Order: sequence, then structure tokens, then C-alpha cells
Amino acid sequence: MTLERKVGGVKSALEQSEVAQKYIGNLYIFVSILPHTPNEINAYARVIGNELHCSVTEAAVELFTEGELLAVLGHEISHLLNPSHTPHLFRGLLFTTVLAAPVAAAAHFSGIHLVVGAVIAVALIFYGILRALLEKKISRNEEYRADALGAAVAGPQFMASALAKLPNESASWLATHPSSLSRIERIGA
Ligand SMILES: [Zn+2]
Repeated sequence: MTLERKVGGVKSALEQSEVAQKYIGNLYIFVSILPHTPNEINAYARVIGNELHCSVTEAAVELFTEGELLAVLGHEISHLLNPSHTPHLFRGLLFTTVLAAPVAAAAHFSGIHLVVGAVIAVALIFYGILRALLEKKISRNEEYRADALGAAVAGPQFMASALAKLPNESASWLATHPSSLSRIERIGA
């Protein structure tokens, strides 16, 4: 099957999916292949006016089956509807760490005891760490939610097998994306 036929099939499946229609309503759907993205497995969805533009990299179209592509696009559509507010993982942490030193210095020069300044500085750093951890949790939950929509649109078995094809990310607490394995378990396929 040519890649074009594959995405054509995905487009009509999206149009016929009652679940997808519930979310994207009256939008005209376009699905295109992004050329010149060697080996990049990725998919994007955005709304322009009353059109939903989905694009999938060439490598992704080659890697995934039609059902899996549908699941991947369902996942992306969920992100579109629930835009992430947490792409900048360490911004909060960096900001408060950078802020901590001048706060300590200011406290010192304004006559506040150095210990008080240090306590404020340390509190700021801890606030930054807590914030970064919370943001990671939120962004992982957004991934699970996106997987759930992908599973609802395409069927859980396709969302699961698409995830299984992704390079597995480490299940570290540092990861913004949960591991593929934990995502597959959540889908319960
Ligand atoms: Zn995602």
C-alpha cells in the first residue's frame, strides 16, 4: 500500500469516527505526510479556521499501520484540545535557583540576618523543585489522557501497539513522558 493511500484511509477513518467527531465537530480534516523528516517518528495536529490539519512524518507512516496512525492522531487531537502548559520543565526550577542568590544577598545587605536570607533562598529552591515535580506529573497525566482518546478513536489495541513501537523512554521520575509500558498498561488493551 502506498503511503498516500494509508493516510487517505486514516483521514476517512477519522471522519467516520463518532468519538473523533464528538471532539472535532465540524472541522474539515486534512491528513498529510511531512516529507524530509528522515527517521523522525512524529505527528502533529492543529486547527486553522474550520480545518483540522494533521501531519505525520514519512517515517511514522511507514512504521505504523492505519489503525495505529489513527490512534496516534487521536492522541494528538487530545493535546490540541488540552494544550499543555508545561513544556518548560526546568524553567520554574532554574528561575527560583537564579533568584535565590540575589534574595540572599539582598537580605544580607538590608540588615536581615544572613541565616534568614539563607532560609528564604533555600525555601525558594525547594519551591522550584516542588513546582518542577508537579509540572512533570501534570504533563504525564496529559499523556495518559491523550492515549485514552487515541484508544477511544482507534481501539485500545491500536493505541497499545503504536506505543509499543515507540522507542521506550526510561521510566524515570525526571521524564515528562511516562514510559511506553506504563502507558500501555493504562490503556488496558
Ligand atoms: Zn503526547
